[in-house]
Amino acid sequence: MSNSRHVSADGTLETPHSTLGTPPLIKIRRLTRHYQMGQHVVRALDGVDLDIHSGEFVAIIGPSGSGKSTLMYLLGCLDRPTGGQYWLGGEEVSALSDVKLSRTRNRDIGFVFQEYNLLSELNVLENVSLGLVYRGTPRRSRLNAAEVLANRLGLDGRQDHNPNELSGGQMQRVAICRALSGSPHLLLCDEPTGNLDSVTGREIMDVFHELHAQGNTIIMVTHDPKVAAQAERVVRIEDGKIHSDERKEIARKAPVEPKVRQVSRNVRWFDIARIAIREGLLAHKLRSLLTMLGIVFGIASVIGMTAITEGGKRQQLEQIRQIGLNNIQVIDTQLDGERLRQARQRNPFGISDRDIEAVRRELPGVERLAAWKRIKAVVTRDRTRADAARVLGVTGDFQEVVNFFVGRGRFLNQRDAEEYRRVCVLGVAIAEALGISDEPLGQTLVIGDQIFVVVGIMQNRPFTASTVKDVNIVNRNLDVYIPHSVADRYYPRVKRAGTYDSVSLRMASSEQLVADSQHLERVVRSLHNDSDDFAVSVPLENLRQSQKTKEVFNVIITVIAGMSLLVGGIGIMNIMLASVSERTREIGIRRAVGAPRNEVLKQFLAEACVISVIGGILGVLTGVLGGELVAVLFQFPVAYSTLIMGISVGVAMAVGIGFGLYPAWTAARMDPVEALRG
Ligand code: ADP
Repeated sequence: MSNSRHVSADGTLETPHSTLGTPPLIKIRRLTRHYQMGQHVVRALDGVDLDIHSGEFVAIIGPSGSGKSTLMYLLGCLDRPTGGQYWLGGEEVSALSDVKLSRTRNRDIGFVFQEYNLLSELNVLENVSLGLVYRGTPRRSRLNAAEVLANRLGLDGRQDHNPNELSGGQMQRVAICRALSGSPHLLLCDEPTGNLDSVTGREIMDVFHELHAQGNTIIMVTHDPKVAAQAERVVRIEDGKIHSDERKEIARKAPVEPKVRQVSRNVRWFDIARIAIREGLLAHKLRSLLTMLGIVFGIASVIGMTAITEGGKRQQLEQIRQIGLNNIQVIDTQLDGERLRQARQRNPFGISDRDIEAVRRELPGVERLAAWKRIKAVVTRDRTRADAARVLGVTGDFQEVVNFFVGRGRFLNQRDAEEYRRVCVLGVAIAEALGISDEPLGQTLVIGDQIFVVVGIMQNRPFTASTVKDVNIVNRNLDVYIPHSVADRYYPRVKRAGTYDSVSLRMASSEQLVADSQHLERVVRSLHNDSDDFAVSVPLENLRQSQKTKEVFNVIITVIAGMSLLVGGIGIMNIMLASVSERTREIGIRRAVGAPRNEVLKQFLAEACVISVIGGILGVLTGVLGGELVAVLFQFPVAYSTLIMGISVGVAMAVGIGFGLYPAWTAARMDPVEALRG
């Protein structure tokens, strides 16, 4: 028996269920939804009153454009009314915040759409349990719950399939499972059989009948009279108003079981990361990789370049250590020909003991002093020649000034000099070349035409050539030291040569180096009668200067890397914006199952972050690889700083967040109804 009520003359409608006595599940009063279209107002819904009780099966029918979908979206809390009120389960929902509305959708409402609206990247169980993600339910429990539902709706054996491997009827079953997964009060269905053939359509309607029989409340929008005829109540809408409201029977369904309320939590971080990686990045691998490239190159150039400059810096520090700290050197300029002749007219001695005395007198800050002279003599032992050997006659505190110490035996001492002993100390490479590394001490060798006894072997010192002006780093492992007095006595001096090639001073502190060196220059110059036969150099100062020039280079590199990161960031933004507009429907679906705005924001931000962090890590690896390549190919020292690596990945992440924010915000701001309409 059908029971029909029509809209009365004053536009109000007496609801048939008022007789049921229980408060309605849905109560709407004078609900309106107007759209402003330029000057024109479209009254999609125009003052609707409607009560729907728990356990009812209502079909909403009406011609196309009459406002059915608009009503559906309002009932589903996906849209906000322009006016009027809406109570769902006794709670006024028309004025709720986005988070609360989302929670209501998530807990109280299940949607079934004509187009199924499944997420193609997810399998059946993951699609079914999508809403539970937004309750913070752990993955295992979600999938278990989904499996029970899927089996109940005849999807056994299909759980691992993706939507594109399912038939239309199966997809709609998955969508129904998804709607049911949160045990909602209300199922809202928009033409659920519209895309199905008649046989499958009937099967799906059977599912709804069964759900209805179990006490579920179902509201179904349809334009198919046959489908509508299966509902127990048919509400007809025309021009945004309820035109008729007919009931077939008033038979109470089994009372609805009280819903087990799960405590809602925020989406788990693990789920956010999973969504970002699996559904965002892995779904478009090539695109993600290309997006990453900007970040990869940016970070790689920072890492590679800092490795090279840092390597250079460390090498220089090592070189400073090798020349000795706080050194000032007075060096013979090694003039020849006419210039030497003229220099010697002014100062016949070259660098000599007079200079050493003057230095000691005039420069109070001298801590140690050493002087040496190179002798051109061949070093041999038996028939072995050490061609690379460099023989130096040394005096003073050579070890301390040069910061290079004897390893075995002893160094030359004062008595050796005073007694003109023919003793020598060898660099390890020379000891090796002469074949006496094992038992060097006490061995004899010939330097020029004199026999010497080995009294010591220097420590091994790794050697790197210097590229800095006036900083002569020599391979000290090739040195042979003899007392300067011995050198002076036994080896004829070249015509016009000075007593020493170099006088090296170690100063007490590095503060005064430049001032001291200037003072030293003046003292020596006046002593040398303005001759150009010497030069004063401060190796440390030269290194500092060269580091300063490198700093300019560093700034340029930083700017290039920064620009590359910027371009990388813009790339991320660009791709993310494209991705957001491409995934409009996905956003709509997520919103429909209860994702609030901030979760959508988080999801896209997480994607940008993952892209940039992976890009950052790949960038670090590429940078290290590039650095190593430079090291191997050009024999250039490289050094990596974990701090810089950490900062780089941090910066990459900041770029990701910075440039991902706008697209993520665009996604979050999207109107769920528009998004669902795609
Ligand atoms: P139905 O689902 O019954 O076909 P709708 O609820 O989709 O009808 O639409 C009702 C009326 O509201 C139509 O005239 C439609 O053009 C209009 N409408 C719906 N959505 C919008 C919108 N976003 N902007 C403007 N007009 C809209």
